[in-house]
Amino acid sequence: MRPRIAVPADTLTEATNVINERMAPYAPKPIIEAIVKSGGVPVILPSVDPQFVPDYIDLFDGVIFAGGADVDPTFYGEEPHQKLGATYRKRDLFEIELLKESLKASKAVFGICRGLQVINVALGGTLYQDLSENPATVLKHSQDAPGNFPSHHITVSHETKLHYLMGDRPYVNSRHHQIVKKVAPNLKAVASADDGVVEALESTENDRILAVQWHPENMFKHYPESQQLFADLIKRAQNGN
Ligand code: MN
Repeated sequence: MRPRIAVPADTLTEATNVINERMAPYAPKPIIEAIVKSGGVPVILPSVDPQFVPDYIDLFDGVIFAGGADVDPTFYGEEPHQKLGATYRKRDLFEIELLKESLKASKAVFGICRGLQVINVALGGTLYQDLSENPATVLKHSQDAPGNFPSHHITVSHETKLHYLMGDRPYVNSRHHQIVKKVAPNLKAVASADDGVVEALESTENDRILAVQWHPENMFKHYPESQQLFADLIKRAQNGN
């Protein structure tokens, strides 16, 4: 059987005339395509009450926490900064519970952009609500170039999963205004941009967590090393159960 990869859904919050589409759960098409191309079966999970999370656990082998709205800062003990973007607390609650239960069940976890941030917060880390809060952040992390173009380099620590998959200095895209402040216990920063921004996290304990701050789902069609990240998730999902 192909590994089943859960994607907790985002929610369409814009007004729509069609009542059935109001607040509709959805997942980004490039992530679904990347899972399928890598040999997995995508399973989209809506942001329902977190008490349902244990009922979902047997439905998947790995999980991708995808991009989306800012994480509600009250989850890391802060009031909202003026430059905080839109938040959606219901998704945060569902994803935080889903991450915790997934790790208990030894599922393979991959985080993308907001996904990296929500994993860090769920495990006890913190964020800068906007990168302007950290004066050292001087590079452009919200690129104006098309989303599938790389725009800044990152330096990857040796002897990490990410180094094995992408080498010393991959060239990646960048579409985020929040960044990691404190890395959660049991996670380690394994890549950074030249201004020190954390660009990837891995577990210190096992191979269950890899998370990146950029968007490999927008690059995998043309950049084989981005494809490697999804192939690695599928492999870890196969090995875990
Ligand atoms: Mn960046």
